[in-house]
Amino acid sequence: MTQIVKRVLLGCAAVLEILRASALGVPHGFTTRAGGVSPAPFDALNLGINTADAPEHVARNTLRLLEHERIAPGALSTLEQVHGTVVHEAKASGGTALAAPLGAGDAVWTEQPGAVVGVRVADCVPVLLVDPEGRRVAAVHAGWRGAVHGVLEAAIAALKARGTRPAALRAAVGPHLLSCCFEVGDEVAEQFQARFERVVIRTGAGKPHVSLLGSVRQILEGAGVTRVEALEHCTSCDPRFFSHRRDRGQTGRHLAYVRCAFEGA
Ligand SMILES: [Zn+2]
Repeated sequence: MTQIVKRVLLGCAAVLEILRASALGVPHGFTTRAGGVSPAPFDALNLGINTADAPEHVARNTLRLLEHERIAPGALSTLEQVHGTVVHEAKASGGTALAAPLGAGDAVWTEQPGAVVGVRVADCVPVLLVDPEGRRVAAVHAGWRGAVHGVLEAAIAALKARGTRPAALRAAVGPHLLSCCFEVGDEVAEQFQARFERVVIRTGAGKPHVSLLGSVRQILEGAGVTRVEALEHCTSCDPRFFSHRRDRGQTGRHLAYVRCAFEGA
């Protein structure tokens, strides 16, 4: 009997490893590469819809994640991400089939009980926002363009328009390309310098580095969000993650997701 159990466990050596913030207060997660069926270079839990990986692998990975998290496939709303600032509201909270992306955009929020919103990343900054007062949640894809152009501000504005007080918001910033590996050209560095304080790091004669985390913290602080938790793992340094830059574009995508499920609801 013990042997059979062991064999079954070995058979599913690909166990999901999901990272969580400590104080969001609702179900959520940041996936790693572990636990999927995709072959290299998308190994293993590729959740990206626009990669060269087989769509059936991505669908199997997505269903595996949702089953693990006890989320109905149709409850998850995602976007066709375009590094822009458009915000969508999601309303789907159930159903057995995976839903198509809501449309082009980079932030998605919901106040529909049971609904899950998510963004896909591989180096870009995923930010999850939770309003325990207004009982609404958001997922934001903030690449460097999105951060500079204001996708996070747009998401917070959408929540505010529905009554959210920014001071009540809790934010979790997921693993992304930290400043150790985010080397940029002068033109990009200048855009950050014009918009943020002390996020461009210059050492010696090399190219400048930029702290996306510093930028995101400044945006959140500026919007009145004070409860911010960052999972400071560098997607390029840490082999547990897909990294668009390290893997030269041939890589998978993670999902950062949050569920509108508040206690007592
Ligand atoms: Zn790094």
